[in-house]
Amino acid sequence: MNTNQFTGSSPVVFEIKNNRIHTFTEKPAPRVKKIPPDLRKKKIDFSSEPNIIKRFVWRLKEDHQFLRSTVQLAFVLLCIWIGFEFHLFMKWGMSGGESAFVERPPGVDGFLPIASLMGLLHWLYTGTVNTIHPAGVFIFIAIVGIGLLFKKAFCSWMCPVGTLSESLWMLGQKIFGRNITVPRWLDYPLRSLKYLILAFFVWTIFGMSARVLETFLYSPYARVSDIKMFLFFADISNFALTVLLILIIGSVIIKNFWCRFLCPYGALLGALSWFSPVKIARNKSTCIDCELCTVACPSNIKVHKVNKVHSDECMACMSCVQACPVKNTLEMKSTVTYTRVPNIVFASLMIGLFVAITGLAMLMGAWQNDISKEEYLRHFENINAPMYDH
Ligand code: SF4
Ligand code: SF4
Repeated sequence: MNTNQFTGSSPVVFEIKNNRIHTFTEKPAPRVKKIPPDLRKKKIDFSSEPNIIKRFVWRLKEDHQFLRSTVQLAFVLLCIWIGFEFHLFMKWGMSGGESAFVERPPGVDGFLPIASLMGLLHWLYTGTVNTIHPAGVFIFIAIVGIGLLFKKAFCSWMCPVGTLSESLWMLGQKIFGRNITVPRWLDYPLRSLKYLILAFFVWTIFGMSARVLETFLYSPYARVSDIKMFLFFADISNFALTVLLILIIGSVIIKNFWCRFLCPYGALLGALSWFSPVKIARNKSTCIDCELCTVACPSNIKVHKVNKVHSDECMACMSCVQACPVKNTLEMKSTVTYTRVPNIVFASLMIGLFVAITGLAMLMGAWQNDISKEEYLRHFENINAPMYDH
């Protein structure tokens, strides 16, 4: 992404290409201090380890972005697997039970965030988990838990839409050499849009009584909302396709277009991230003001100007930490113990929390829904009937 050149040990000379160019002659020039040799981060040569497994584990431990990409890939593969199983389930249903039966994967509930929030509220009101989209309730709790403890890490480490969004802006950077940075006067109102969308959903859903929630969650539409979602994308209208294309083009030219401006999930996690006990922290005394952290930040946060990143846009992606050339200067830190949180610990706790909560749902028997094969076949037969509209 950037080309950074460091020459000699004194003085530090560097150059950043693509996003910005800083040279000592540029005005205003950053007042870059020297890096004391013992504080300069050493480049690790991972190829020096001949054993491929050891090399992989070593890289997971030391290379923040390699670890994050690995987790992203794992979650994308998980979503592809869920999508494939759901496709086979749809094939069975649309054939009227003629083709081989494949169980509906409960993980598909993760793509129904509104039903999941309604299910959570219904659980809080009634003390029982709904039996139509129970997995969604637990996936929602896991994501909220991750937001509370690890900032918006779900967006940059696990969310498949976040991963797609990141791939698209990287593609834009490859094609055009850079992405467009929205000016601040426009960025703030655009970023507020996602909070308005979130507020609308929260206001609507929290205004429902337990009885209304139950009526909706067990309605014919809710029973087939996943099937309807699949059919919506399988037979996409011109209007929906146009909107999708606008979002894709927006994401190619502006970093995280959907996540930054429109995603209500991102808004929820951004709001929760204020309570997170971990923050990116800068050590002012060793910082050399090189601004590499700010250049690396996909959320356009002025990392080099703050002691702690409190921004609701910080996705805990660690790009800034990796870009910092000085040891012990920019780190993810616990605001409780004031100690560094190693990347591998951060990732393990986050994934552990997700697995623990979804695993608990499985142990409680609140993972699979209770819609039988026979009932599904009846729904498939009449899927276009008005009672399945909402
Ligand atoms: S501040 Fe650092 S961790 Fe947060 S979004 Fe920017 S680069 Fe990622
Ligand atoms: S914290 Fe940012 S500005 Fe300071 S040395 Fe690290 S990368 Fe450079």
